[in-house]
Amino acid sequence: MELLFNRLFLKHNPDCTAEGSYRIKDFIDQPDTTVNGEKWISLVHTQEYINLIQKACKEKRYLAEVQLSNDSYEAACLAVGLAVKASETEGFAIVRPPGHHASRDKTHGLCLFNNIAIASQKLVNEGKRVFILDIDGHHGDGTQNIFYSSNKVLFASIHQINTFPYSGAVIETGTGEGVGYTLNLPLYSGNGDKEFLKKLNKIIPVALGFKPDIIGISVGFDGYYQDDILELNYTDRLYYEAAFQLKRAFRKKKLFAILEGGYHRNIRCLADSFIEGINNGSKPPPLVISEDISFG
Ligand SMILES: [Zn+2]
Repeated sequence: MELLFNRLFLKHNPDCTAEGSYRIKDFIDQPDTTVNGEKWISLVHTQEYINLIQKACKEKRYLAEVQLSNDSYEAACLAVGLAVKASETEGFAIVRPPGHHASRDKTHGLCLFNNIAIASQKLVNEGKRVFILDIDGHHGDGTQNIFYSSNKVLFASIHQINTFPYSGAVIETGTGEGVGYTLNLPLYSGNGDKEFLKKLNKIIPVALGFKPDIIGISVGFDGYYQDDILELNYTDRLYYEAAFQLKRAFRKKKLFAILEGGYHRNIRCLADSFIEGINNGSKPPPLVISEDISFG
């Protein structure tokens, strides 16, 4: 797994103290990857909604707690493009604006276009079954809404409950054909690595039973103990461990990742840990030879 990045992302809503450019400054040593994702946005979002976002950026409006500019629209299209590219190359797209709170026709929580949902819908249209795991500390309500009635996408989220966006309860399991294809495993204020890994170990067997062709991970870093926006206490090690366990469980499948939240200055270090976990998890497990059995 390799990083996908572009310095244009720094120009979107740059001075915001919450979802500002400071979050991704440590990635500027990465080469610029350019893929305009504009043509894929309508796979998920309505044309009226796309027009509204484009117009709001042109008029430099304030929307979804974000100060928009022309660079915002370009960055949002590029974020979609890198999300799609990540899904094709098993990459980790480091993008802004984030996407997992955006629904088909609604901005929400700093998100304009739902990057992971668009990349996943493209895969579904190509006949693939997609498992989306959202490990941002907030519930991925936009992604859940988009696939709530689908049985082609299994959506699972581990997040702090009783905080923004005030959804993601265990009883939210899907609707119509999608019943059973949404899994919410909420955590409580003060929970950390141990509780997270317990939830992950409940999700993995269900996801293996779903037999996905590809796994997309919404990686937000706001459950980190140094992030003040939530009250989760994940350590650096958690991101390595989660990635390792996922890749070990889905060793023969493609995995890709897309950045969501994380409002502190350690995002680069945690993203590197996540990638290391994926890369180590992809190696074959060591051969264990039992001393009780002899051959020959
Ligand atoms: Zn978040």
